[in-house]
Amino acid sequence: MNKASPTSEPKLTLSDPDRQQKALDILSPLVLTKTQKERVKEVFIEEMKLGLAASPERKSSLLMENTFIPELVNGTESGEYMALDLGGTNFRVIYVQLKDGKIEEEIIDYYHVPEDKRLGPGTELFDFLAYCISDFVHKRNLNLTGRTYQLGFTFSFPMTQKSLNIGLLVSWTKSFNCSGVLGEDAVQMLTDAINRRGDLDITVSAILNDTTGTLVMGSYLDPRCGIGMILGTGCNGCYVEKVSRIEKWPGKHSEAEVIVDIEWGAFGDNGVLDFIRTKWDRAVDDQSLLVHSYTFEKYFAGKYLGDLYREVLLTLAKSGVFCEGNVGGGEGGSLTKHGSITTKDISAIESEHFHGGRDDVKKVLERLGLKPDEDDLSIAQHVAGVVSYRGVVLVCLLIGVLLDRMEREHCTIAIDGSLFQHHPRFRPLMDKLISELAPGRPFDLRLASDGSGLGSALTAAVADRLQKKS
Ligand code: ADP
Ligand code: MG
Repeated sequence: MNKASPTSEPKLTLSDPDRQQKALDILSPLVLTKTQKERVKEVFIEEMKLGLAASPERKSSLLMENTFIPELVNGTESGEYMALDLGGTNFRVIYVQLKDGKIEEEIIDYYHVPEDKRLGPGTELFDFLAYCISDFVHKRNLNLTGRTYQLGFTFSFPMTQKSLNIGLLVSWTKSFNCSGVLGEDAVQMLTDAINRRGDLDITVSAILNDTTGTLVMGSYLDPRCGIGMILGTGCNGCYVEKVSRIEKWPGKHSEAEVIVDIEWGAFGDNGVLDFIRTKWDRAVDDQSLLVHSYTFEKYFAGKYLGDLYREVLLTLAKSGVFCEGNVGGGEGGSLTKHGSITTKDISAIESEHFHGGRDDVKKVLERLGLKPDEDDLSIAQHVAGVVSYRGVVLVCLLIGVLLDRMEREHCTIAIDGSLFQHHPRFRPLMDKLISELAPGRPFDLRLASDGSGLGSALTAAVADRLQKKS
């Protein structure tokens, strides 16, 4: 049985050489050429520069947002802190007890945000969040008397930050669409909801997104951490930048460094990445909730990789190369049905391919009512490799640029998200490709599980430390 390697470029070998060639020809737009890879890097550098410029000649697709977090965890933080993590797949309430920069105790509880709260009036959403904090505090017997808890608020939606604790919502995304919140400060709305209850003494001292939280969590795990990344439903990255290199900030700054949230999920929304865009990427975009946005993450993130894969197989089927032109139609949908193949399926297909099996790939195709022969199974495995490989290459190109820009002796990259955690190609291939793309720049990839939430509590602790210092 053919065993694939997570770090090698996917290779297709079929018993019928004509069919093999035909399949490879169809798939060729998904294999990035050396020139294309170079171009992606150049464009990324250019877009970062524009995103940081005081008066850019055109609008960058990278927001390069100021997070107002000037320092990371330094090992002196002590006390009890709380956090909320809203905007990922799960909503969490978090409690952390720190002693000399070490987490002595952590509690993370999951709450379900019902649909009517996600789509109703904003005040009701924030009242619900405050209710969850209160429920958590009482259920977990946290001591409320005579103390104020500082809370970090991970609010993973596009926002304009005015300070560490002011974040104005730019637009709702994902499954949220509450009225009366656009342009409003989410910290103020949460604070108002907490005050309406009257049973909690909590100060919301920091607002951030999951990516930034992951970097702060990374700095807890390894002080050399300088890059944070999300590889989950979506994809984003942030890094520690020298304030002197941020042209767009007016006035004097006492801080030397700050975390910049790149918002690279939207990289290419202005068309600068169209030169790698395939018809399958366009199809995925067309079927997505927010069309013509989040171009970069739609190339491979968890929400989209399964559909991209399905679109490619659909083309192969329609060309007669795959499953004799059949598109299926079973209990689990068909190749034409959006969502019938998930990114989790891709992980399973790739994983067994690396072990030399083909039961899972067969199961996925049969679920769609397809009747694959041996060559069909090889094609299905190969395509999973091709779409995944391209995704890893794209992420690594950006990381390589950041490592070169930061010029550190060593840089740890903290990553949170199920795609990184469970897709068996990501980690090993990232290790290999980043070394090749940024030679002489030592780095470590570090999984920061729950970094989006724990990092938020740690940010509240850092904010508290800075506050006391000033
Ligand atoms: P979020 O990014 O929403 O905070 P996660 O990091 O848990 O949450 O990512 C969830 C996403 O990860 C889902 O969109 C799903 O597509 C993807 N995912 C879930 N399980 C797997 C898996 N086994 N392999 C790859 N991706 C997965
Ligand atoms: Mg998350």
